Amino acid sequence: MSSGVNETLIRDVVTEVLSRLGQAGKTGAAPTGATCAATPATSTPARSAVARGKFGVFQDAAEACEAAHAAYQQLSEKGVAGRLKVIEIVKALCETHAVEWGRIELEETKIGRLDHKIEKLKAQRGIPTIEFLHPYGLSGDHGITLEEYAPFGVIGAVTPSTHSIPTMACNIISMVAAGNAVVFNAHPSAYRCAVMAAKVFNQAIARELGIENLACILEPPTLESFAALGKHEQVKLLCVTGGPGVVKAAMASGKRAVCAGPGNPPVLVDGTSCLTNAAKCVIFGGAYDNNLLCIGEKEVFVLDSVADRFMAALEQNGACRLNAGQLERLTRAAFVFPPGQGAGCPHPVVNRDLVGRDPAVLAKEAGATIPPGTQLLFAETAADHLFVEEEQMMPFVPVVRVKSVEEGIALSKKAEHGYKHSAMIHSHDVGHMTAMAKALETTLFVKNGSCLAGLGSGGEGYANFSIATTTGEGICNARTFTRVRRCVMVDKLRIF
Ligand code: NAD
Repeated sequence: MSSGVNETLIRDVVTEVLSRLGQAGKTGAAPTGATCAATPATSTPARSAVARGKFGVFQDAAEACEAAHAAYQQLSEKGVAGRLKVIEIVKALCETHAVEWGRIELEETKIGRLDHKIEKLKAQRGIPTIEFLHPYGLSGDHGITLEEYAPFGVIGAVTPSTHSIPTMACNIISMVAAGNAVVFNAHPSAYRCAVMAAKVFNQAIARELGIENLACILEPPTLESFAALGKHEQVKLLCVTGGPGVVKAAMASGKRAVCAGPGNPPVLVDGTSCLTNAAKCVIFGGAYDNNLLCIGEKEVFVLDSVADRFMAALEQNGACRLNAGQLERLTRAAFVFPPGQGAGCPHPVVNRDLVGRDPAVLAKEAGATIPPGTQLLFAETAADHLFVEEEQMMPFVPVVRVKSVEEGIALSKKAEHGYKHSAMIHSHDVGHMTAMAKALETTLFVKNGSCLAGLGSGGEGYANFSIATTTGEGICNARTFTRVRRCVMVDKLRIF
């Protein structure tokens, strides 16, 4: 495969430029750069519609899968050096466009915070690549055996509304590091920004490596397009990041699936911990991107003997307490009965209109006045409160008093619903830490830090936006997207 001039690419570029000029003529806007990684297309989501199959954007799932398969074969010919070039392109584009793309994603989804959307794009730099692919070797009297981490081929991936471009980017990095191509079905309320970024990635990859359609995306994404991905013969693996619905659908597809599912992470604060640090950590993690992170602190259980001091520390460090009346008003706004299901629904569900909204919006619903810049709201609640039981994804945490560490662990386990996702403890007692870790069996268990320490921000470790909780692969990396192949040489090749 030549990496020089590519006729198809030139034709596509000309078509794209002409279409942009046409649009600019209509809107009065200046045409933007169309082809170069250094000056990539910076179109707004509304301008993302492109001709069928151009720069990785497809309306038809089968066409996307075939195109991705061709790209996978081209990538194999480029070797590991080719994979690393693609990864560098994706990382560099995320860095360069962090502010612009963060804003575009926020404008489309209207959830979360711009500063954290920007950080999540910049964090792509730290996503690990081929270092997880060291082969395993055996050498003995009967010769030499090598086990290698080989690609699957084409992966079908689903991304959430909460981190659309960041999840897509880190999926591309991990999947391409392992030698795969990918077709994305993004969240319907966050797909325009993903299509825009995918186009820019594919343009740069085609320009630099001559490979088209390595990271395809479906426009628009639908349940039907996901079903088509799940059935297509070229798709060898699914990777879904989202709530219970998509995890169930992926597992029912008949394909092997890596499922990064829902969570409802509890925090336990016992009497031995530093309460100021605990409060600061809860504020940092619970407020991050307005609590959209699946690993984010969602409810706190605190030992009764230190509860007042802990809540005072929350207030001293910038969180605002709601009183009982304000909590009642916020609860009525934050949980609703689905339309038409009032009496038939066992209990209200999270009101999507308040997910990921700023604390000021929640405070208004609660009838509370809060200082500008408040990061997090909290209130004391009972253990069976809706805010404790539901994964609410709002910058509000319920705080529940417990009489003993044992009770705190039991209630944390109940609130976590067996998702085996994430949990935090603030304690200096190794016995308490061990007991909670054993009881909850979560994929991430953070001691004396915020949830983000579990992804390397403030703790040791690397980041990823897909944490395969349900299917057990853990924090995804390149090895997650490989199959192990063994090569055996009988009796020979040993050098001693
Ligand atoms: P969501 O479940 O509404 O959507 C996730 C994706 O699944 C979207 O692309 C959506 O279109 C698709 N989807 C939903 N139901 C489907 C079905 N039946 N068939 C096919 N596709 C379907 O989730 P969201 O609101 O976008 O994201 C928040 C959820 O994702 C939370 O539960 C959060 O904990 C979870 N999440 C988990 C991780 C992780 O790494 N474990 C990371 C981010 C988000």
